[in-house]
Formats: sequence, structure tokens, C-alpha cells
Amino acid sequence: MTSRGSEVADLSLAPAGQTRIEWADSQMPVLRSLAERFARERPLAGTRVAACLPVTAETANLVRALRAGGGEPALCASNPLSTQDDVAAALVERHGAEVHAVFGEDLGTYHRHLAEVVDLAPHVTMDDGADVVSHVHGQRPDLVEGIVGGTEQTTTGTIRLRALEAEGRLRFPVIAVGEARTQELFDHRYGTGQSTLDGILRATNVLLAGRVVVVLGYGRCGRGVARRAQGAGAQVVVCEVDPLRALEASMDGFAVRRAVDAAAAGDVFITLTGGRDALAGEHFARMKDGAILANAGHFDVEIDLIELGAQAVARREVRPFVEEFTLGNGRRIHVLADGRVVNLAAGEGHPASVMDMAFASQALCVEHLVRHGSSLARRVHVVPEQIDTVLARLKLAALGVEIDGLSLAQEEYLSSWRQGT
Ligand code: SAH
Repeated sequence: MTSRGSEVADLSLAPAGQTRIEWADSQMPVLRSLAERFARERPLAGTRVAACLPVTAETANLVRALRAGGGEPALCASNPLSTQDDVAAALVERHGAEVHAVFGEDLGTYHRHLAEVVDLAPHVTMDDGADVVSHVHGQRPDLVEGIVGGTEQTTTGTIRLRALEAEGRLRFPVIAVGEARTQELFDHRYGTGQSTLDGILRATNVLLAGRVVVVLGYGRCGRGVARRAQGAGAQVVVCEVDPLRALEASMDGFAVRRAVDAAAAGDVFITLTGGRDALAGEHFARMKDGAILANAGHFDVEIDLIELGAQAVARREVRPFVEEFTLGNGRRIHVLADGRVVNLAAGEGHPASVMDMAFASQALCVEHLVRHGSSLARRVHVVPEQIDTVLARLKLAALGVEIDGLSLAQEEYLSSWRQGT
């Protein structure tokens, strides 16, 4: 679809972006093997895909795989701060892909780019946060007819989709790729666990050892971050509203406190609740001078920045991605990346070997939708189990790990109720 226009920051950045795409590709063997099969079989021939994802080197390799399969994707960013401009340039210049994304674009431009991608009249939607699905349902219902289904990469997007489904208004099937077992384990735990700390360290270069790191939210992502922060020598405090998760955090060896009690003790605060106002007025007032606040949850509402701005007597940028708010009590609070996902804004997102699984899963789900979408009910679907299993096998093979299989006798034993004590 090169006949449609693209909009990226600067095409002359393409050589740097291309090197970055190749580097990521070298860590994405599963996606590559899939792209090779796609190139032979062309299962996506003529399939238009409206994709709204972080525009990273890893996503670029997904776009390449879709195109290898005959797909015609158009890509915009799922967050104004998660576009790598050099990668966007390389996708257009070297790969002839259609991209509408510029790092730091304002919200008006963000929504214009989304609308331009949706204008493609897609057969398949691909989201990280449900913006395409919500745009189609809200502004372009005329396109629903041509859509066989969609994929959703992230938990927050799946929550929005389930809300749409609960109102009986979801008009095509969507596969919740982010809920796949492979994703829960790798993307959330190891991906977010590592990349969140990486984003914070790149922005601040603080030492974590001996510091008090407060993790708000002990879901899949929070668990990963808490574990990695502990591994870096931090004293980790967890804040959680769900009693079971709070208990789990406690038994995992973390201190569990109310946020208001943790506020005075923390050096670094990381929100991963999926909700809003995890850090708000009552917390800011108690924080130490120099406290660092970062968000790794989906939207930029987990830290109440409006309230923080209201409490501040001065604010300034002290380093790239670090804004200092001075409160009336003279204490300084540092907010990273405007409270947007710190791992993508101040870092490079998850490492490629994690996105390898996630994006191979995306590509397989698109293939599944092309084959079976018209027979799927209009609801949120889980990733077919065989896709998860195929992915895990491909990844193990790429890692050179061999595993055992069950013997016939073992299989019989496991599926029988007759044998016992
Ligand atoms: N829609 C927001 C929120 C993202 S939440 C945004 O775009 O910023 C984190 C999501 O980013 C997850 O779904 C994760 O899979 C994805 N992600 C993390 N690292 C990535 C990378 N290197 N490339 C593409 N997507 C990435």
C-alpha cells in the first residue's frame, strides 16, 4: 500500500533505523521462521491490516512478517512517546511500508494518524490499547462490514474490549493476544520486569541497591518489576488492593504497605495498576525530597499529574525524560516521561527476544482470523491453545533446548480416573 502516503519525522534517519531493525531481527528467530513460511505460503495475500502499536524495531519485524505473507499493513503509534523515528523512516524507505507516526506528536496528530490508518478500510485490526477498535466503533462504523476480526496486544485494551462486549456492542471478534500464556509469562514478567527498570535507569542513572522501591500493583507486570528490583539490591515495598495478591506479595518476601504509608519511605515509585490515581495528592505531600515517580501501566493516569502540578510552586526539566516538581514544602519530586509508560518512552520497550513470542503470536492470530474469522462469534477470544504450544516449541528449538514427551502409558494415566491408591 505504498500508494497511500506515510508521515514520519525524517526519512534520512532510515539507515540507523534499518540497523536497529536488523539487530532486533537477530533476536527474533521465531518470528523470522514464521516470516519464511509466510513468504512461501502467502496466507495473508491482500489482507489489509490497520495496526496501532508502539513503533519500535520489534514492531518493524512484525510488519515485515505480515508483508512477507502478502498482508498490507498500515501502522500508527499506540502512544505519542513510543515511536522510534529512525525505525519509522526505515520502514517507509527500505521496506515500502505505510507508517503514520512521529515521536512526541501532540494528541491531535496522534488521533489524525489513527484515523488515517483506519481509512485503509482494514480486514483485520491490530491494537495495543484498543484505539483502532474504539475508533472504528465510534467514528467509522461503516467499515465494520469489511472487518473479519482484530487482535489486541495488551491487558488494558482487553479490559476495554470486554466492556464493549458486555454492552453487547462489539461488532467483530477480537483475539486477546495479551492474555496468551506465552505473553503472561514472558511479556509481562520478564519483558516489563526488565524494561521498566531499564527505562528508569536510562532516564536517571540512579543506584537501585539499598534504595526503597515502591511497586504499586502486584499483577503480572508488578511481580516482574518487584522481582527484578529486588535482584538489583533494592528494598521492595508492594502496594496492592487485592487481598490475594497482597498475600502473594507478602509470601514472595516483599513488604506490603498502604500507599499512604509507603509514600514517606520510598525513593523510587513505580505504578503498574492498570487503574488511575495510584499516586495522588495525599501521597505527594508525604514524599521525601528527590523521590522519583515512574509509570509502567498502560495509560498516563496512574500518577495524578494534574494534582501534582497544582501542588507545585515550580517545575522544570532536569534531564531528558525527568521533570522536577518543587512543592510548597521545598521538596522536589521527579516524574519520568510525563507519566507515560517509562519502558517505551525512556527506554526501547521490551527486548526483542520477548517481542519475538508476542509478535509471532500476533502474526499467527492474524492468519487464524483470515482463515476462521468469519465463523468466530463477535466477542473477545483467547488465543487458540495450539498457537501458544507451537510458539513455545519454536522458541525452545531456537534456544537449543530439548524436552521430553509423554509416553503412551503416561498419557493414559493422566487422562484416566481409574488408577488411584
Ligand atoms: N499502548 C501504550 C501502552 C503500552 S503497555 C503504548 O503504546 O505505549 C505495554 C505494551 O507495549 C505491551 O503490550 C507490550 O507488548 C508493548 N511493547 C513493549 N515493548 C515493545 C517493543 N519493543 N515493541 C513493541 N511493543 C512493545
